[in-house]
Amino acid sequence: MTSTTAPETTRSPWDLSRDELAELLSDHPRYRVDQVWNGLYGRGLTPDQITELPAALRAELSEQLVPSLTLDTEQRSSDDTTVKQLWTVEGGSIETVLMHYPKRSTACVSSQAGCAMGCGFCATGQIGYDRNLSVGEILEQIVRARAAAEPRRLSNIVFMGMGEPFANYDRLMIVIDRLLNDFEIGARKITVSTVGLVPQMLRFAEAGLQVGLAVSLHAANDELRTELVPINKRHPIDDLVAAAQLFRERTGRRVSYEWAMIDGVNDRDSDAAELAKVAKRSFAHVNLIPLNPTPGWPTTGTPPKRIRAFASQLEDAGVNVTVRANRGTDIDAACGQLRANQEATPVEIRRR
Ligand code: SAH
Ligand code: SF4
Repeated sequence: MTSTTAPETTRSPWDLSRDELAELLSDHPRYRVDQVWNGLYGRGLTPDQITELPAALRAELSEQLVPSLTLDTEQRSSDDTTVKQLWTVEGGSIETVLMHYPKRSTACVSSQAGCAMGCGFCATGQIGYDRNLSVGEILEQIVRARAAAEPRRLSNIVFMGMGEPFANYDRLMIVIDRLLNDFEIGARKITVSTVGLVPQMLRFAEAGLQVGLAVSLHAANDELRTELVPINKRHPIDDLVAAAQLFRERTGRRVSYEWAMIDGVNDRDSDAAELAKVAKRSFAHVNLIPLNPTPGWPTTGTPPKRIRAFASQLEDAGVNVTVRANRGTDIDAACGQLRANQEATPVEIRRR
């Protein structure tokens, strides 16, 4: 009988837990585990770059642990405050965006290649779902963004790149654990943005972390929201509100509702009135973002003047509101606008 050994699938160095690394290094002195771990997380080095390791061990590790991202292109905005990195991963491509502000530098990270949620206005939604990213693929984006940020310090992480982070929940939670413990990024400097997967929102609330939670609301009545965000059919607004309330109860933190301002679709006085009610029931903060034009969506963003009027109406109703600027639109890098240069299928939306 012949026995065939299936080739071990290669893993990224950042896929391994500390225990798995210890297992891999079980024939070596204990302190090697610390050396490798510090190299990977403290200094963002690949195993072959950890020069304090013996050459043979470096070679051995490099064979088994292969980084999973290959840089395809890096674009910088004209003012150099936004950097978009397009990565080739197995079977596809993903993007990371680094944004510098006066007091912080934020990486906007992808959690999936593509997205299955089908929000028509979203560039990632237009390309459809490819697959969940591995822990290593997500962490490598952060390692590489941290290097690209130098000499500035990468201070904040937002899961607002390609994909729905809560559809990759278990890996997301491992990534967050590494961010807190190995990258030493504080929970309050991390934000997860979800389309509103209620079961995962409830689990996340129960986890009780101080990590921020943003919910992509975009409409405050079920009819319009189902049109814009199809998953609303399964998880309607009342369920979102209940999850937001639980999050508040368990963490003491408010969720923030994201609202992409779409001209003539969700930016009228009646929309603001509906939103104010939902936001107040949810104890939520509201972020207004002008819609970024995408190739597959016919409607444009709300003009700035109308956004200001909408914001004032919310404020007058007692809602805490921020108008978020779009970053890096000149390089298509605005967070939530990531499409990795793939083709989109145009969709149609009925204007109310
Ligand atoms: N899937 C998650 C996280 C990624 S999208 C989510 O939907 O929340 C990050 C944010 O960008 C979401 O609030 C999303 O609704 C928003 N977004 C998507 N397409 C956009 C566009 N064309 N203009 C402005 N915001 C957009
Ligand atoms: Fe997916 Fe978020 Fe885009 Fe919707 S907005 S398609 S959930 S990435």
